[in-house]
Amino acid sequence: MHTRLKLWQSEKLSIIPGFAHGVTPYGMNMALTVGADRDNSPSRRREICETMGLPFERLTVAEQVHGAEVAVVTLANAGSGRADSDARIAGADGLATAEQDVPLMVLGADCCLLTVVDPGRRAVGVAHAGWRGAAAGMAESLVRTMVEALGCCREAMLAALSPCAGACCYEVGGEVVSAMAGRGLDMGGDVLTRRDGRIFMNVAAASRLQLERSGVRSERIEVANVCTICRQGYYSYRRDNTTVTGQHAMVVGFRSM
Ligand SMILES: [Zn+2]
Repeated sequence: MHTRLKLWQSEKLSIIPGFAHGVTPYGMNMALTVGADRDNSPSRRREICETMGLPFERLTVAEQVHGAEVAVVTLANAGSGRADSDARIAGADGLATAEQDVPLMVLGADCCLLTVVDPGRRAVGVAHAGWRGAAAGMAESLVRTMVEALGCCREAMLAALSPCAGACCYEVGGEVVSAMAGRGLDMGGDVLTRRDGRIFMNVAAASRLQLERSGVRSERIEVANVCTICRQGYYSYRRDNTTVTGQHAMVVGFRSM
């Protein structure tokens, strides 16, 4: 395997038969709309899919508007947005499917990318949740959609949360504190912490807490615990520059058996 294809993977998810997943590294821009060498992102997306044994033709991508809407992906809309940003699934920050050989992808650079898997149902969801997505209840919305639309079982779910902005670096303002409090994520937990009179957010902790509140058992949730701002392996808006940085991606999918 080429070294640049070194993906972040969850140990808990790696043992699920026929399930492929990973988060792409820095230097491999996966976005069509931002960052260096974006014209070649489709070929990099194809490369990742082929590495995972999943068909690029069905790679499905959400628009990502910092909301909490989840779209169910079927064979009818599979493949949307894989090489054309205008064709992304409109209005969605989350995608879920019970289809096999349908890879799903979300993109980020400091936001949390998360996946929820029901190994028995062979269904999977992905979502993009920064502070706005967390405030909108993204992770709760993903679990709910998988249960109600795909027949998944909360007790059977496994989840993984990507590298994202950590409490070591991610200073936030009063609007974020208010938004988190509105979702029941107050100061005093591990989502928001105060240091030297400033407030910092652990972005992954917000989604982890929402997963737990949704009935996903805490020991079945794996958190990367890698800060995108101070560690060099991933893209970061906060560290680099919102206009020039690219995006890494989380890609997930079940292969047909
Ligand atoms: Zn950091």
